[in-house]
Amino acid sequence: MQHEKLQLIAEGKTKLVWETQNPKHIIVEFKDDAMAFHGKRKIFFENKGKLSNQINAILMRLLEENGVQTHFVCVFSDKESVVKRAEMIPVEVVVRNYAAGSICARLGLESHKKLKAPVLEFCYKNDELGDPVINEYHAYAMELCTQEEMANMVYIVSRINKVLCDAMKKIGIVVADFKVEFGRINGRLVVADEITPTTARLWDAKTLDKLGDGVNVSTEYEQIYQKLSKAFK
Ligand code: 5GP
Repeated sequence: MQHEKLQLIAEGKTKLVWETQNPKHIIVEFKDDAMAFHGKRKIFFENKGKLSNQINAILMRLLEENGVQTHFVCVFSDKESVVKRAEMIPVEVVVRNYAAGSICARLGLESHKKLKAPVLEFCYKNDELGDPVINEYHAYAMELCTQEEMANMVYIVSRINKVLCDAMKKIGIVVADFKVEFGRINGRLVVADEITPTTARLWDAKTLDKLGDGVNVSTEYEQIYQKLSKAFK
Protein backbone atom coordinates (compact mmCIF):
# COMPACT_ATOMS: atom_id res chain seq x y z
CA MET A 1 0.00 0.00 0.00
CA GLN A 2 1.27 3.50 -0.84
CA HIS A 3 1.73 5.74 2.16
CA GLU A 4 1.22 9.46 2.16
CA LYS A 5 3.10 11.58 4.70
CA LEU A 6 0.81 14.14 6.33
CA GLN A 7 1.42 16.49 9.28
CA LEU A 8 3.98 16.21 12.07
CA ILE A 9 2.32 14.86 15.22
CA ALA A 10 5.20 14.49 17.67
CA GLU A 11 8.89 15.10 18.17
CA GLY A 12 10.91 12.93 20.51
CA LYS A 13 14.58 12.84 21.45
CA THR A 14 15.56 10.67 18.49
CA LYS A 15 12.61 10.78 16.13
CA LEU A 16 9.93 12.83 14.43
CA VAL A 17 6.51 11.23 14.03
CA TRP A 18 4.24 11.97 11.07
CA GLU A 19 0.64 11.12 10.44
CA THR A 20 -0.28 9.16 7.30
CA GLN A 21 -3.54 8.78 5.41
CA ASN A 22 -3.93 5.40 7.15
CA PRO A 23 -5.02 5.98 10.78
CA LYS A 24 -3.38 2.69 11.80
CA HIS A 25 0.03 3.69 10.44
CA ILE A 26 2.49 6.48 11.24
CA ILE A 27 5.85 7.45 9.77
CA VAL A 28 8.85 7.72 12.08
CA GLU A 29 11.82 9.79 10.95
CA PHE A 30 15.16 9.05 12.62
CA LYS A 31 16.90 12.31 13.46
CA ASP A 32 20.63 12.83 13.02
CA ASP A 33 20.94 13.66 16.70
CA ALA A 34 19.91 11.46 19.59
CA MET A 35 19.96 11.58 23.34
CA ALA A 36 21.14 8.27 24.70
CA PHE A 37 21.87 6.85 28.10
CA HIS A 38 18.84 8.31 29.81
CA GLY A 39 19.33 11.70 28.17
CA LYS A 40 22.87 12.07 29.51
CA ARG A 41 24.75 11.64 26.22
CA LYS A 42 24.09 13.35 22.91
CA ILE A 43 25.04 11.55 19.71
CA PHE A 44 25.11 13.54 16.48
CA PHE A 45 26.51 12.89 13.02
CA GLU A 46 25.28 13.55 9.54
CA ASN A 47 24.20 10.04 8.53
CA LYS A 48 22.88 8.92 11.89
CA GLY A 49 19.23 9.08 10.87
CA LYS A 50 19.78 7.13 7.68
CA LEU A 51 22.01 4.45 9.22
CA SER A 52 19.71 4.03 12.23
CA ASN A 53 16.69 3.65 9.98
CA GLN A 54 18.39 1.01 7.82
CA ILE A 55 19.86 -0.94 10.77
CA ASN A 56 16.52 -0.86 12.58
CA ALA A 57 14.71 -2.12 9.46
CA ILE A 58 17.08 -5.10 9.10
CA LEU A 59 16.74 -6.02 12.78
CA MET A 60 12.96 -5.56 12.95
CA ARG A 61 12.56 -7.78 9.85
CA LEU A 62 14.86 -10.35 11.41
CA LEU A 63 12.69 -10.42 14.52
CA GLU A 64 9.51 -10.77 12.46
CA GLU A 65 11.05 -13.64 10.48
CA ASN A 66 11.75 -15.32 13.81
CA GLY A 67 8.22 -14.99 15.11
CA VAL A 68 8.61 -11.80 17.18
CA GLN A 69 5.83 -9.34 16.41
CA THR A 70 6.96 -5.74 15.93
CA HIS A 71 5.35 -2.46 14.91
CA PHE A 72 7.53 -2.27 11.78
CA VAL A 73 5.75 -2.10 8.40
CA CYS A 74 8.27 -0.94 5.77
CA VAL A 75 11.01 1.55 4.98
CA PHE A 76 9.51 4.78 3.59
CA SER A 77 12.66 6.77 2.72
CA ASP A 78 16.34 6.92 3.71
CA LYS A 79 15.56 8.22 7.18
CA GLU A 80 11.93 7.14 7.56
CA SER A 81 9.93 3.98 8.16
CA VAL A 82 6.22 3.25 8.33
CA VAL A 83 5.18 1.63 11.61
CA LYS A 84 1.88 0.58 13.15
CA ARG A 85 0.36 3.02 15.60
CA ALA A 86 0.58 1.50 19.09
CA GLU A 87 -0.21 2.54 22.64
CA MET A 88 3.24 2.69 24.20
CA ILE A 89 3.97 1.03 27.56
CA PRO A 90 6.16 3.43 29.61
CA VAL A 91 8.65 0.72 30.57
CA GLU A 92 12.08 0.17 29.02
CA VAL A 93 13.20 -3.44 29.14
CA VAL A 94 16.99 -3.82 29.21
CA VAL A 95 18.71 -7.16 28.57
CA ARG A 96 22.36 -7.50 29.55
CA ASN A 97 24.71 -10.30 28.50
CA TYR A 98 27.86 -8.43 29.54
CA ALA A 99 28.37 -5.90 32.33
CA ALA A 100 28.59 -2.39 30.90
CA GLY A 101 27.23 1.07 31.53
CA SER A 102 24.94 1.80 34.45
CA ILE A 103 24.95 -1.71 35.96
CA CYS A 104 28.70 -1.40 36.66
CA ALA A 105 28.30 1.75 38.73
CA ARG A 106 25.12 0.48 40.42
CA LEU A 107 26.42 -2.96 41.42
CA GLY A 108 30.18 -2.47 41.37
CA LEU A 109 30.68 -4.89 38.47
CA GLU A 110 33.75 -4.92 36.28
CA SER A 111 32.93 -3.57 32.82
CA HIS A 112 33.02 -6.03 29.90
CA LYS A 113 32.66 -9.09 32.13
CA LYS A 114 30.34 -11.72 30.64
CA LEU A 115 27.45 -12.29 32.99
CA LYS A 116 26.74 -15.85 34.14
CA ALA A 117 23.19 -15.48 32.83
CA PRO A 118 21.36 -12.67 31.02
CA VAL A 119 20.09 -9.94 33.33
CA LEU A 120 16.71 -8.32 32.70
CA GLU A 121 16.02 -4.86 34.04
CA PHE A 122 13.03 -2.58 33.80
CA CYS A 123 13.13 1.20 33.78
CA TYR A 124 10.21 3.57 34.22
CA LYS A 125 10.22 5.82 31.17
CA ASN A 126 10.24 9.24 32.73
CA ASP A 127 12.71 11.91 31.61
CA GLU A 128 12.31 14.08 34.71
CA LEU A 129 13.22 11.14 36.96
CA GLY A 130 16.00 9.91 34.63
CA ASP A 131 14.25 6.63 33.71
CA PRO A 132 14.73 4.97 37.14
CA VAL A 133 15.16 1.22 37.49
CA ILE A 134 11.99 -0.43 38.77
CA ASN A 135 10.87 -3.99 39.31
CA GLU A 136 7.71 -5.77 38.24
CA TYR A 137 5.88 -4.86 41.46
CA HIS A 138 6.37 -1.15 40.73
CA ALA A 139 5.11 -1.76 37.20
CA TYR A 140 1.84 -3.38 38.41
CA ALA A 141 1.34 -0.98 41.33
CA MET A 142 1.84 2.05 39.07
CA GLU A 143 -0.42 0.45 36.45
CA LEU A 144 2.28 0.71 33.78
CA CYS A 145 1.40 -2.79 32.56
CA THR A 146 -0.48 -5.88 33.72
CA GLN A 147 1.09 -9.02 35.18
CA GLU A 148 0.21 -10.88 32.00
CA GLU A 149 1.92 -8.20 29.88
CA MET A 150 5.01 -8.33 32.08
CA ALA A 151 5.21 -12.13 31.69
CA ASN A 152 4.82 -11.68 27.95
CA MET A 153 7.52 -8.99 27.77
CA VAL A 154 9.93 -11.23 29.69
CA TYR A 155 9.24 -14.09 27.30
CA ILE A 156 9.58 -11.90 24.20
CA VAL A 157 12.85 -10.20 25.25
CA SER A 158 14.42 -13.60 25.94
CA ARG A 159 13.44 -14.61 22.42
CA ILE A 160 14.81 -11.31 21.01
CA ASN A 161 18.08 -11.86 22.87
CA LYS A 162 18.46 -15.30 21.30
CA VAL A 163 17.61 -14.08 17.79
CA LEU A 164 19.92 -11.05 18.03
CA CYS A 165 22.83 -12.94 19.61
CA ASP A 166 22.63 -15.75 17.01
CA ALA A 167 22.42 -13.31 14.10
CA MET A 168 25.22 -11.07 15.38
CA LYS A 169 27.48 -14.03 16.11
CA LYS A 170 27.47 -14.82 12.39
CA ILE A 171 28.95 -11.40 11.65
CA GLY A 172 31.48 -11.27 14.49
CA ILE A 173 29.49 -9.08 16.85
CA VAL A 174 28.46 -9.71 20.46
CA VAL A 175 25.32 -8.19 21.90
CA ALA A 176 26.55 -6.80 25.22
CA ASP A 177 23.15 -5.31 26.04
CA PHE A 178 20.10 -3.73 24.47
CA LYS A 179 16.91 -1.94 25.37
CA VAL A 180 13.47 -2.48 23.92
CA GLU A 181 10.09 -0.88 24.36
CA PHE A 182 6.66 -2.36 23.79
CA GLY A 183 3.36 -1.08 22.52
CA ARG A 184 -0.18 -2.44 22.52
CA ILE A 185 -2.20 -2.87 19.35
CA ASN A 186 -5.75 -4.10 20.04
CA GLY A 187 -4.50 -5.46 23.37
CA ARG A 188 -1.64 -7.40 21.75
CA LEU A 189 2.01 -6.62 22.58
CA VAL A 190 4.41 -5.64 19.81
CA VAL A 191 8.05 -4.56 19.93
CA ALA A 192 8.05 -0.85 19.20
CA ASP A 193 10.55 2.03 19.17
CA GLU A 194 13.94 1.01 17.67
CA ILE A 195 16.80 -1.45 17.88
CA THR A 196 19.96 0.35 16.74
CA PRO A 197 23.45 1.09 18.07
CA THR A 198 21.77 3.94 19.98
CA THR A 199 19.78 1.43 22.03
CA ALA A 200 22.20 -1.51 22.08
CA ARG A 201 25.88 -2.08 22.85
CA LEU A 202 27.14 -4.12 19.91
CA TRP A 203 30.82 -5.02 20.24
CA ASP A 204 33.48 -6.62 18.10
CA ALA A 205 33.43 -10.30 19.16
CA LYS A 206 37.24 -10.54 19.13
CA THR A 207 38.17 -7.40 21.04
CA LEU A 208 34.93 -6.80 22.98
CA ASP A 209 35.33 -3.20 21.91
CA LYS A 210 33.08 -0.87 19.98
CA LEU A 211 33.26 -1.27 16.22
CA GLY A 212 34.69 1.52 14.09
CA ASP A 213 37.71 3.70 14.62
CA GLY A 214 36.90 4.46 18.25
CA VAL A 215 37.00 8.20 17.54
CA ASN A 216 34.02 8.95 15.33
CA VAL A 217 30.80 7.31 16.44
CA SER A 218 29.67 7.41 12.78
CA THR A 219 32.18 4.66 11.89
CA GLU A 220 30.57 2.37 14.48
CA TYR A 221 27.11 2.75 12.90
CA GLU A 222 28.60 2.43 9.42
CA GLN A 223 30.41 -0.84 10.21
CA ILE A 224 27.42 -2.38 11.92
CA TYR A 225 25.25 -1.43 8.93
CA GLN A 226 27.77 -2.83 6.42
CA LYS A 227 28.05 -6.14 8.26
CA LEU A 228 24.30 -6.50 8.77
CA SER A 229 23.34 -5.52 5.23
CA LYS A 230 25.81 -7.97 3.72
CA ALA A 231 24.51 -10.83 5.84
CA PHE A 232 20.78 -10.16 6.16
CA LYS A 233 19.44 -7.78 3.51
P1 5GP B 1 22.66 1.57 30.58
O1 5GP B 1 21.61 1.40 31.62
O2 5GP B 1 23.88 0.73 30.84
O3 5GP B 1 23.00 3.01 30.31
O4 5GP B 1 22.02 1.04 29.22
C1 5GP B 1 21.79 -0.32 28.99
C2 5GP B 1 21.38 -0.55 27.54
O5 5GP B 1 20.08 0.01 27.33
C3 5GP B 1 22.29 0.13 26.53
O6 5GP B 1 22.35 -0.69 25.38
C4 5GP B 1 21.57 1.43 26.20
O7 5GP B 1 21.84 1.82 24.88
C5 5GP B 1 20.11 1.07 26.38
N1 5GP B 1 19.35 2.16 26.98
C6 5GP B 1 18.93 2.24 28.23
N2 5GP B 1 18.25 3.37 28.44
C7 5GP B 1 18.26 4.04 27.29
C8 5GP B 1 17.72 5.30 26.88
O8 5GP B 1 17.09 6.03 27.63
N3 5GP B 1 17.95 5.66 25.60
C9 5GP B 1 18.64 4.85 24.73
N4 5GP B 1 18.82 5.24 23.49
N5 5GP B 1 19.14 3.66 25.10
C10 5GP B 1 18.97 3.27 26.35
